[in-house]
Amino acid sequence: MIIVVKPKTEQKQIDELVELIGRYGVSVNKWVGAESTVLGLIGDTSRIDVDLISAQDAVERIMKVQEPYKKANRKFHPEDTVVRVGDVAIGDGSVQVIAGPCSVESEEQIIDIAKRVKASGATFLRGGAFKPRTSPYAFQGLKADGLELLLEAKKATGLPIVTEIMRISHLPLFEDVDVIQVGARNMQNFELLKELGHLKKPILLKRGLANTIEEFLMSAEYLMSGGNENVILCERGIRTYETYTRNTLDLAAVAVLKKLSHLPVIVDPSHATGITWLVEPMAKAAIAAGADGLMIEVHNNPKKALSDGAQSITPDAFDTLMKDIAPIKAACGRK
Ligand code: PEP
Ligand code: MN
Repeated sequence: MIIVVKPKTEQKQIDELVELIGRYGVSVNKWVGAESTVLGLIGDTSRIDVDLISAQDAVERIMKVQEPYKKANRKFHPEDTVVRVGDVAIGDGSVQVIAGPCSVESEEQIIDIAKRVKASGATFLRGGAFKPRTSPYAFQGLKADGLELLLEAKKATGLPIVTEIMRISHLPLFEDVDVIQVGARNMQNFELLKELGHLKKPILLKRGLANTIEEFLMSAEYLMSGGNENVILCERGIRTYETYTRNTLDLAAVAVLKKLSHLPVIVDPSHATGITWLVEPMAKAAIAAGADGLMIEVHNNPKKALSDGAQSITPDAFDTLMKDIAPIKAACGRK
């Protein structure tokens, strides 16, 4: 980190600034020029309160030369992280597909969908039991019963399950869940992240609706700094001024995340677009952009779905999608 001191700052103020910075345990190199002084900070600058330092009268400008995330940073971990769930590996060059309904609605629904997506090549079953809904009057999920039904579907198909947690106190219910999802709305629920950081279970972290790539990686850092290195990032679209699609799929973020971090990155084209016919082209584009996997909402009767029917594709459409992505995978040298 480099700090440019305001021109004509008195020596006493510079000394006070150096003393303040020193409290963070970094050493300070000083270059005194004709017009201004520049301070170079050496050591672990991740604990520095940048806002506090910027607010000091003596400070003209701060330039970060290192990212604030360490464990998620590819610079310190050049090789790709591979997250393993049973026999399935995410981040090893393959394209894994997580498919299933937005919400678990009934035993028949989840088992039927699970069997069909498995037959088409999905390697994980998704389904929300605890649902974060914009309206308190909308279907809130089957909760603990929904988790039970997901486990039934896992038993029936062998597919590992991915489902969202919304509260720390629900953690005991997630014992048999293979991958715990942290949804977009909880990406910055730091207390939840800290708690999940103490587990070894894989966490699927979705990007917040209005979060930057750096904030996304800092949330991954919360999980990893607690000791959980099994983190999968999921780009699911962000809020922009565009209203045609539910969100704007930030595909550049996939390539950026792969460059900045060693963590696997998957894409959710369903929530990113909100429109069934856009799921397939965006799924293909995600693979071409380097995604390690996809998360796709599939419903056996989208018109009657209790949540997100407008973006859910049928099992038949999912089967076609799986066939259509095969040449893209091959062209991109993916397994
Ligand atoms: C979901 O995957 O069920 C979901 C609610 O997605 P998001 O958190 O990305 O909105
Ligand atoms: Mn949904």
